[in-house]
Amino acid sequence: MPVEEIKLTARFKVDLTDVDEATISEIHRLFKEYRRIVNELIEYAHSHGATSPRRLWYAKYRELRQRYPTLPSHYIHTACQLTAGIYKSFIEMKKLGMCEKERPIFKGRTIWLDRQLFRLDVEGWRASIAVHGGRWVALRLLHGRYHEKFKNMRLGEARLVLKDDGNLYLNVAFHQAVMLPEISADAKVIAVDVNENAIVYGNDDFIERFETNEGIIRTRYFLKRRRIQSRIRGKWLRARLLEKYRSREWRRIKEIYHKAVKRIIDKAKEADVKIIIMEDLKHLNRKNTGSKELNGRLHRWSYSRFQKILEYQAKLCGLHVKYVNPRGTSKTCPICGDELEESSNGRRLMKCWKCGLEEDKDVIAVKNLVKRYYEECMDAKLPKTSFNGRRQIDVGSPRSPRKPPNEKREEGQKAQNAKLTFLPPLSPQYLKSFLRAC
Ligand SMILES: [Zn+2]
Repeated sequence: MPVEEIKLTARFKVDLTDVDEATISEIHRLFKEYRRIVNELIEYAHSHGATSPRRLWYAKYRELRQRYPTLPSHYIHTACQLTAGIYKSFIEMKKLGMCEKERPIFKGRTIWLDRQLFRLDVEGWRASIAVHGGRWVALRLLHGRYHEKFKNMRLGEARLVLKDDGNLYLNVAFHQAVMLPEISADAKVIAVDVNENAIVYGNDDFIERFETNEGIIRTRYFLKRRRIQSRIRGKWLRARLLEKYRSREWRRIKEIYHKAVKRIIDKAKEADVKIIIMEDLKHLNRKNTGSKELNGRLHRWSYSRFQKILEYQAKLCGLHVKYVNPRGTSKTCPICGDELEESSNGRRLMKCWKCGLEEDKDVIAVKNLVKRYYEECMDAKLPKTSFNGRRQIDVGSPRSPRKPPNEKREEGQKAQNAKLTFLPPLSPQYLKSFLRAC
């Protein structure tokens, strides 16, 4: 039986009500020094073109250790790793023209804690964080029923996050190994396609549709944020309100995603499906999206979040998750393989001139994903039951599309600066009622 590991992140708010001044100032000092170290490492990475944590470590460890002798040395290790990550994604974004800054600046809201830098008592929900001089500060974590499931999982690394409003969070990664059944050649599959307002899933026997209205929700919050930006003068209040609405927006979308995931998994069980197929977003060409660039990026971002949720929920239920190259899946005829054109009979309909197929865009995408999955198995020139070695299908690695850590923020900012042109058409009444509402 193949064993796969899933990773889940638990988010805890730190209870700061009965924490004394000394502890708080100790934590703030930690954030301040960590920020200084990371920014110094970025400076070095930028001037020497260093993108590997190892190289940063060799170049700067000794010097930093001398300057911060009481700081636990593992903070320097994680700072090197964090810096390498930040700098690599910065280069990637710079290449794509998505970033105007000369070099990245770390605002110092996050500290990466490896296993040597924190301890977690899951019975009492208390965390200890290593601080200066080999001491530890104990923090009480606010927790709920949602956190119970983590008690049986293996503890990983963590991030300590300081929000603009002064709240402190501890995001802890947990790991769990899951046993998945062997895949046979005739195993049933479900392909999942996500577009702006709906999640469409199915196979050759059935296709179902789950309306998410995500595009509409995003438009609503976009207008709200833009209004805050133009109306609120106070910097602090503005940042607070923007943060509030950004997290509220994500919470709403996440809730919808969880409902959709539940529906898909229930359907998979009902139809005796063993494999869930999704697009491997890594293959999408980011440059070629033209004027819809921003929309596309927001969509990809939330699509990758959706994929993560579906992937771990599916694996917990014993389903395999595979990613296939989505290139051309929305434009190719699933029957004859000819190129499709937009039909004149409806906005979302596509037509094949060769075989006469006329079908909804999303249905075509789903059928093509299913087809692509079988093609990729065949291509491997291996018996279907042993395609584990294939890179494209990649059984065994909980692979999710990589996302530069600061892209989310970038997107948020871009969204606020962007013009309205990319948004779906709205009636004037609709717009007015929103503007009044926020
Ligand atoms: Zn055709």
